[in-house]
Amino acid sequence: METVIKMEITFLGTSAAVPTRERNLPSIALLYNGDQILFDAGEDVQRRFEDLGLKFNAPLSIFISHMHGDHVIGLPGLLFRFTLIGRTTDVIIFGPPGLFSYLYLHRLVTGLRAPFLHEVYEIYLEEKLLRKYDFQGSSDQKPEEIPIKKNTLYDTSDYFVDAFPVCHSIITYGFRFQEKPRPGKFYPMIAKKLKIPRGHLWKEMQMGKTINYKGKSYNPEELGIIGPKRQGIIIAYSADTMLCEKLHPLANNADVFICEATYGNELKDLAEEKKHMTALQCAEIARDSNVGQLILTHISSRYTDENILLKEAQFIFPNTVIAHDMLRLTTTKNRILKLSQ
Ligand SMILES: [Zn+2]
Ligand SMILES: [Zn+2]
Repeated sequence: METVIKMEITFLGTSAAVPTRERNLPSIALLYNGDQILFDAGEDVQRRFEDLGLKFNAPLSIFISHMHGDHVIGLPGLLFRFTLIGRTTDVIIFGPPGLFSYLYLHRLVTGLRAPFLHEVYEIYLEEKLLRKYDFQGSSDQKPEEIPIKKNTLYDTSDYFVDAFPVCHSIITYGFRFQEKPRPGKFYPMIAKKLKIPRGHLWKEMQMGKTINYKGKSYNPEELGIIGPKRQGIIIAYSADTMLCEKLHPLANNADVFICEATYGNELKDLAEEKKHMTALQCAEIARDSNVGQLILTHISSRYTDENILLKEAQFIFPNTVIAHDMLRLTTTKNRILKLSQ
């Protein structure tokens, strides 16, 4: 049987700087085959973490887009919570310069212990490196400098996460989660015809590996035992940014593009002044970047009727939805991310 990797995205907070009764501050959870990934950690993210039933001791990596309070104030709270319940599994955190000092101050002033936290990576894209700090180390420690290729921050056997610079009032990164290409569909009848016995050899071929059997080598893709490689799912997330060219490579060919849409077109000038996006601008990026699904988030508290933003975006890019807290997308059997009801 083919292993089915389940993937799920849930919006834990969807408001811009001011939370509302319905919308918490920004945070998105991505679950992938037992791994938990958080993009941003708005205030009170720990409650949403609980609402979603996330496992408090499962592997977790956190990606912070920028150091504005609405995206990062929930981080110490979440780490406090983990400390209280005795978490033992390591947490890894990536974010802009200043992230280590921010966390270290909490250790110093508010007594945040977080014994599971060692790896805090500050991202320096222009220098093409990460600076790795040990959260448990001293304030004047010399961070380890780790060169990065192609802006990749985090690389596992199944997926990688890249950072992209975007255009906001302080250093801000967009993130792109990309699943690695997966082996094609397995055709057991062909394996049977070639008299390759079922068992570990089948399993290896399902993973795309060439096998040796009775002195003969079998390349499953060449022999049609598996189909051509399948493209992995791509999720692009742009937190705070204004409209700029840099959004195109971030969103390019994404199955799902999550874009901040703080304002409507009627406040286009304000959006530019405050370095944020309008819903229409998000839709233009989605249209020009061959995106599958556009999801608007980081909605200003002034919009009690979000349909204004939705209509504006759908006029340009029909496959748009507005995120609400706990909106969820899950993969279907044929590996398409669909909105769950
Ligand atoms: Zn924000
Ligand atoms: Zn901001």
